[in-house]
Amino acid sequence: MTSDTKLYHAPAAAPDTAWQADVRAGVRHVRDLDRLPLSPAERAATQAAAANHKVRVPKAYLDLIDWNDPADPIRAQVIPSPDELVKTEGELDDPIADHEFSPVPRLTHRHADRVLLFPTYQCAVYCRFCFRKESLTAIGRGYTREALEPALAYIAEHPEIREVILTGGDPLSLPDKALVEIRARIEAIPHVRLLRIHTRVSVALPSRITPGLVEALQGRPMVTIVTHFNHPREITDATEAACRTLRQAGFVLLNQSVLLKGVNDTIEVLEELCRELMYRLGVKPYYLHHGDLARGMAHRRTTIAQGQALAGALRARLSGICNPVYVLDLPEGGGKVPIGPCYVEAREGENWRLRGLDGQARKYTEIVGE
Ligand SMILES: *Cc1c(COP(=O)(O)O)cnc(C)c1O
Ligand code: SF4
Repeated sequence: MTSDTKLYHAPAAAPDTAWQADVRAGVRHVRDLDRLPLSPAERAATQAAAANHKVRVPKAYLDLIDWNDPADPIRAQVIPSPDELVKTEGELDDPIADHEFSPVPRLTHRHADRVLLFPTYQCAVYCRFCFRKESLTAIGRGYTREALEPALAYIAEHPEIREVILTGGDPLSLPDKALVEIRARIEAIPHVRLLRIHTRVSVALPSRITPGLVEALQGRPMVTIVTHFNHPREITDATEAACRTLRQAGFVLLNQSVLLKGVNDTIEVLEELCRELMYRLGVKPYYLHHGDLARGMAHRRTTIAQGQALAGALRARLSGICNPVYVLDLPEGGGKVPIGPCYVEAREGENWRLRGLDGQARKYTEIVGE
């Protein structure tokens, strides 16, 4: 140091946490797409599509992409595609009618015992196939304490609500401090038994799963984390460590996947995904969602018959605990109904004909005491 070195420096910006640095180093704006190894034609197409639905990909998830494969299943989930601009008749802005069942802002109440609460409409990663993309685009608002007041008052006034599901947006894109506030407010409502969190951070931003986050969520209510893995390549040392942290905290871990053409619509991919989720991550496969009618997603939808064949093959190959339930979330708020293969072939009175897991039909006669 020389004597003329300035003694006072402007205070350095607060150092990033690891996860904030990971978000910062990824794709955050359309202009960041310029840094990706895309051909000029791909770049132009990507930018047109990005104008339609936000882009954000943390570095950890970006690093999983094999850029030599144009059909890479990780890339397909987060890098905009011109196919998204194809609008097909019958697609919907609000495919599962969240808005129709929203008595107050930021809350959906469709089933008596549980509500969806939307603390933020922002995510750590934006998935191209998101069925809430219209609310993410249209609303784009983050978390404030005031914005949640009407929803919290509604929950307090409805004793039939036992389960509060934080979704969005991605609730775990919020800082720990906000999560502590939200959890404390929910915890203070005595009839709420379980806090459920739907998140993609354990997949796309595993550095977000920290001891501070665990502490923020721990309290009186039972905590269930519903992760969103779609492909076995998302199961890495980092996502394994994140899930271990959550499991060791005593949280129940479940996974929901979306069936996506070109990503996970083969039996090999789905079988490995479900098996490794359970055996390596300790995450129970919960739902396999049929692709809903989100706009611009025709290129990623399979038919229901294809989904049923996959669900049937999974049932035959994997243990019960490795099997998700194949569901369709009905438009107009009909709820999630199981649409897996049907094993009942015929029935006459108490005589049933059922198909076994080996594909062979068998008779079963009911015998019931008076
Ligand atoms: C999906 C969903 C739930 C949760 O349903 P589960 O079958 O319990 O997982 C609750 N409310 C709404 C409005 C939903 O869309
Ligand atoms: S994290 Fe969830 S809410 Fe956010 S874009 Fe992906 S699917 Fe949609």
